[in-house]
Amino acid sequence: MAHPLALALHGGAGTILKEQMTAELEAAYHQSLQTALQAGWQALMAGLPAVEVVALVVEHLENDPLYNAGRGSVFTHQGLHEMDAAIMCGHTLAAGACAGVQQVQNPVRLAQAIMNNSEHVMLAGQGAQQFALEQGLPLQPNSYFYTPFRHSQWQHVRDTGHYALDHNLNGIDALMHNKKFGTVGAVALDANGHIAAATSTGGMTNKQYNRIGDSPIIGSGCYANNKTCAISSTGHGEIFIKAVAAYDVSCLMEYAGLSLQQAMEKVVMDKLVRMQGEGGMIGLDAKGQIGMVFNSAGMYRAARNSQGVDVIGIYG
Ligand code: ASP
Repeated sequence: MAHPLALALHGGAGTILKEQMTAELEAAYHQSLQTALQAGWQALMAGLPAVEVVALVVEHLENDPLYNAGRGSVFTHQGLHEMDAAIMCGHTLAAGACAGVQQVQNPVRLAQAIMNNSEHVMLAGQGAQQFALEQGLPLQPNSYFYTPFRHSQWQHVRDTGHYALDHNLNGIDALMHNKKFGTVGAVALDANGHIAAATSTGGMTNKQYNRIGDSPIIGSGCYANNKTCAISSTGHGEIFIKAVAAYDVSCLMEYAGLSLQQAMEKVVMDKLVRMQGEGGMIGLDAKGQIGMVFNSAGMYRAARNSQGVDVIGIYG
């Protein structure tokens, strides 16, 4: 019998409310999630390894300006785009990550190149960009990453000294209380029974001092281990780092015997809530079980598996 396949992806969690959404934008997100899901599913069906499929799906989402990753990344305090990404293979525990990189068209491909072609796990800033160049990865001018929406978000906070999570409302109050996290991520289970995870983000609007979030941190924003689970997180990075959120799910499964769903709920709905860490995560295990758990109002998400799961969701 063929091994089950599974795929889940997210485009960020946060204060995503139906009453704040236009029909056009909702349709655009729906279409985008559907297209990314379909591309990843076809790749799984064609026999691609999970680690390649998650890179492909995240690349797809990075290229879509709807999300705060790759093209469409938020603005830093200096008016630039500094991106973070990570990838991990649950079969080999190989991992790669890049942090604070500018101009790299697809940070997830840089993370993958670091995993495959360097002796390191994480490269940052200028050096990471140099490595991208040497690997022949496409770079883009800053203007490529520009979107009017993220630019106007930045205009509202740039002189306040605050940094903000990705959002869609005006005013500093709304910025601080109506949070949205447009990070993207994917997890996959392939025909050989191997799982993988990848995450990519532009981070937080108006961030400075080379702030790095959880997304490129193996164990916080991204983790995969065939024995337990593959996880991609989205949310308030500082708290996800302190909670070691992704690895905590894996630990609860490995050492406490919890199921994927139980472990994800423990971390997202209990631990992170108590730490005031808003956000969520997607996950799957080597049997093809999928979890999509968030403590915020919504999370852009999609999932499919061989057991009949086929969902696209936005709201809670
Ligand atoms: N976790 C990301 C960060 O803190 C933000 C997000 O999920 O959108 O950089």
